[in-house]
Amino acid sequence: MKHFIYADNAATSKLDLEAFKAMESWFLDRYGNASQPYTFSREPKKALTESRSIIAECIGADPEEIYFTSGGTESDNWVIKSSAFSDAEHRAMITSSFEHHAVLNSCAFIERLGFPVAFVQPNEEGQILPEKLNGLITESTRLVSIMFANNEIGSIQPIKDLCDISHQHGALFHTDAVQAVGHIHVNVHDLGVDFLSASAHKFNGPKGIGFLYIRRGVDLPPLLDGGAQEKHHRAGTENIASIVGMAVALKQNCRSLIGIQEHVMSLENSLLTKLKETGLSFSRNGGKNTLPGLLSLSFPSKDGEAILHRMDLAGISISTGAACDSVNTKISHVLQAIRLDEGLARGTIRISLGKNNTEEDVDQIVTALVRIVS
Ligand code: PLP
Repeated sequence: MKHFIYADNAATSKLDLEAFKAMESWFLDRYGNASQPYTFSREPKKALTESRSIIAECIGADPEEIYFTSGGTESDNWVIKSSAFSDAEHRAMITSSFEHHAVLNSCAFIERLGFPVAFVQPNEEGQILPEKLNGLITESTRLVSIMFANNEIGSIQPIKDLCDISHQHGALFHTDAVQAVGHIHVNVHDLGVDFLSASAHKFNGPKGIGFLYIRRGVDLPPLLDGGAQEKHHRAGTENIASIVGMAVALKQNCRSLIGIQEHVMSLENSLLTKLKETGLSFSRNGGKNTLPGLLSLSFPSKDGEAILHRMDLAGISISTGAACDSVNTKISHVLQAIRLDEGLARGTIRISLGKNNTEEDVDQIVTALVRIVS
């Protein structure tokens, strides 16, 4: 029997049940403002401390290096905009051309204000090669921002090497790890990054909450001015329920990271094998080192958006790499950046499998794809 299949986990993911349960009492009973001095606020204050420690442990950070934000978009905006203004001598910034728009549009903002921004191009496999960064970076570069893993094609970047090059030139290094945290091993101290953005709803936490890791000793002026929350670095009454939910969700995923990866990889392999067996012509984007479960597939001479809508009618949610208006097909900046042939780019879809998907889901996805594409 047909059932609804969610295969767009890179867009957002289902809330972990334990995280949901852990949040409830913070909405209904323990709703005190963590900044108040009375007894009723002690528990929320303690929840903040505990959540910060849990999150820090999951990414190899110290608790005081974690700052709660409203999600990946805010974390990215904070690093890019505040870094630009914090050093008059070092005004330049480098990012890649296939970042999420939270990074690209923050860069466009500082560019409009006169800060130079250079863009490093990925290769056709979706990799930012360290030598390319080396060729662009100068002594006036303040910040380099390269995503940990690309959200459309899943390619994982050589973050440690890119970070080392940045440091050799006296620049700070940020990584937008929104697609990586809670899915693959991330250890900020091993990588040496100065800043790392993460978002709870991508790792089975609630929406509208995330965090920014700021390495101890690195100064980043606040983006949001106001109260004294987050050590005067991020104003606004703390969203305790969501922070607790985020910490529980991350802990759940990190505790079972290998098991989840194996499950998702086995689904991914099964989907690719079954799809190949049908004889359908398709290629996969993103090279060899990709996020588990994220499949960017291109069907030559097909229309990705039409596939998406017909999959939707079949009860299956997936994503695409190209969107049409009535006149043009707009190919995503990511597929353009990896210079994917236009005919393939138009026929590109993204299937992102998560821990809640099953082998039965894979069978239905393959059956529907074959029917729709052929
Ligand atoms: N960065 C990347 C790589 C993403 O995939 C996303 C969301 O799709 C974001 C940033 C934005 O995160 P949020 O939805 O938490 O604002």
